[in-house]
Amino acid sequence: MEHTALTYLCPDCMAYLRFDGKEGKWVCDYCEGKFTMEELEQRGAQTKQDDYEVKPRAEAGENTADVSFQYEENIPQPEDDLSHMRAYICPSCGGEIVTDDVTAATFCVFCGNPTILPSKLEGEYRPAAIVPFETDKEDAKKAFLNLCKGKKLLPKGYTSEQRLEKITGVYVPFWLFDCKADFQYHATGENVSTWTDTRFIYTKTDLYHIHRAGRMEFENIPLDASEKMQDDLMDALEPFHLDRKQPFDMSYLSGFLAEKYTYEPKDLYDRMTTRITPGVENKASEGGRGYQRVYGVKCHTDFSSDKQTYMLLPVWMLISKYQGKDYLFAMNGQTGKIVGELPISSSQTAKWFGIVFIITFLISMIIVCLAGGVF
Ligand SMILES: [Zn+2]
Ligand SMILES: [Zn+2]
Repeated sequence: MEHTALTYLCPDCMAYLRFDGKEGKWVCDYCEGKFTMEELEQRGAQTKQDDYEVKPRAEAGENTADVSFQYEENIPQPEDDLSHMRAYICPSCGGEIVTDDVTAATFCVFCGNPTILPSKLEGEYRPAAIVPFETDKEDAKKAFLNLCKGKKLLPKGYTSEQRLEKITGVYVPFWLFDCKADFQYHATGENVSTWTDTRFIYTKTDLYHIHRAGRMEFENIPLDASEKMQDDLMDALEPFHLDRKQPFDMSYLSGFLAEKYTYEPKDLYDRMTTRITPGVENKASEGGRGYQRVYGVKCHTDFSSDKQTYMLLPVWMLISKYQGKDYLFAMNGQTGKIVGELPISSSQTAKWFGIVFIITFLISMIIVCLAGGVF
């Protein structure tokens, strides 16, 4: 099983199937067949697999074709250390699929066949659930084009069909934390009142010691568990509607990239507490309401998490390199929410600066002429 590669096949024509998020079905691009999971089960849809003896790479760096497209292109892969690379045989064309040891679903570089590597999804690496894609690649392309629309300073050809094709659906591994936060809030509250009589102005200052303790319970705080993903970016893609999750099934991965987690829950614990701390402190500080002034605030929180759920969440991604910097576009594969950064072309900027300068210059000339005309 260790080096098995797997492909889901169309029950009608035996071409490969991919999961179409928009249809919520498995589709065949050859005979245009569409199947629900029940139909696939009823028809006894087959998988094609190839068990493969892993062999040492003959020549370092040779033929390590980047099967995961653009998305992985920027991950440094030292030429001489290929111990994290694994080789599989494509069940469809027999070509060699070389991938790193966290990839769980990918494509064959030679024939495009969606390939699943089941050993990455077993045992402790078997996700509890998956949130399937509900958008398709066309949606992601449109969203990208929309983001680029009207941006005059984009490098030329930035929205080329070639680039659009590189948008890839990725199932990103996440840990979802359940967490309890017990807080202790201490502060001093002050109320000042003043009044006058015929002779004096009186000022009365009341000081209170505020103590508030409480517990907040959180469920399903998502934290991406992939080393390759930018944390802030993944956070920005939230929320995911977790009520539409499905029990994990490998067939959902067909036609997408997928990875197993590289971070364990203990590695993400601090990120998790950092994320919820502002909410806890905000709640705790409600104890300070009703005072004119609150000072000397001390808030201490004890966190505890006894449940973390491993889940795969859908994201469309496009990484573009421009002048040595990465620009990332990502779309929540379920809701269509996007985040992205676009490069600014220096030559385009120069062009526009030139045009603006010329216009300004012309206007100045006209004003000077008009002014000259008056005198
Ligand atoms: Zn078919
Ligand atoms: Zn192939």
